[in-house]
Amino acid sequence: MMSKYAIRDAAEEAFALLGKSERLSSAEWSGVLSLGAVAGELFAEKARSVSALHFGNGVYVRALIEISSFCRNGCRYCGLRSGNRLAVRYRLSKEEILACCERAALSGFNTFVLQGGEDPLQGNEWLADVVSEIKRRYPEKAVTLSVGERSADGYAMLRSAGADRYLLRHETANEEHYGFLHPKSMSARNRRQSLFILKELGYQVGAGMMIGSPGQTVAHLVEDLMLLDELQPQMIGIGPFIPAAGTPFAGETPGSVETTLLLLSLLRLRFPKSLIPATTALATLAGNGTECGILAGANVVMPNFTLPGVRGKYTIYDNKKCNGSESAEELALLESKLNKIGYKIDYGRGDYMKN
Ligand code: SF4
Repeated sequence: MMSKYAIRDAAEEAFALLGKSERLSSAEWSGVLSLGAVAGELFAEKARSVSALHFGNGVYVRALIEISSFCRNGCRYCGLRSGNRLAVRYRLSKEEILACCERAALSGFNTFVLQGGEDPLQGNEWLADVVSEIKRRYPEKAVTLSVGERSADGYAMLRSAGADRYLLRHETANEEHYGFLHPKSMSARNRRQSLFILKELGYQVGAGMMIGSPGQTVAHLVEDLMLLDELQPQMIGIGPFIPAAGTPFAGETPGSVETTLLLLSLLRLRFPKSLIPATTALATLAGNGTECGILAGANVVMPNFTLPGVRGKYTIYDNKKCNGSESAEELALLESKLNKIGYKIDYGRGDYMKN
């Protein structure tokens, strides 16, 4: 067993390693991960100081608008998978999305995140028209898309329509594991290719993995970190796996909150300026997940601005939180939760800072 002095020394070495400009090897990432398991609080402390250096005590807020619960895919972990007869389906119209944006704008938000399954009726042309209208009404605000895989032309069309950012979590970088989690029609290679295309198109790109998904090993996490090192995304979203009713993984064990928090700290140390949300999945598994996420190094929260009538039907996993401080109606509650741990809401656009 390492003494606390030895752990502190090793942590200092790990911090230096994480600050290197060169990509880290698989052995280096494995070493850092295993040390993190015994030095989680030291990592979190350091991650907080790095966050404070770049973002002060502000936490960016993004208005999350879940535009469709239809999806053509059959990802085994996801409650919205096409074969799930328990899923409740809805699709927002252009007018309904604009109404959500208006509400978010009135609340002072400067980023709208349009998130949805891969809904064939919300194709590239339709979505480009919605994005153009949002940008016409709110030219100074940012639009983030999180609408799954599209063709290279589709990404380009949406970028030309004014979309600023694109979230596309890679979920797992390991091909075999990806194949285990996803249907045959999807591949780790396509996902990876999409991420690099999005970057080339000038989007601020978000990638990230699920923590504790069925079949995940530490070696898989190392591959995830190596992919992030190569891609250098501007945003990184990670969250614990949570089983969803009606899916093949419904009876599986959820991912670990502790491991998710450790990974958040590692990511903050390795990607100091990246925009990292304290995800809803974290807030769903742990009552104080948002606060824990911020204290581990996250700096973004995404309150739900989906129309109240359908909110709660976007059930990617069970008991997904969309009320309380995760909702548009309770921003004061979110502010007070953040204030209690020494942070505050930052309503700025929160673009990635290059320098
Ligand atoms: S994870 Fe995304 S692509 Fe896969 S089934 Fe769910 S909504 Fe569809």
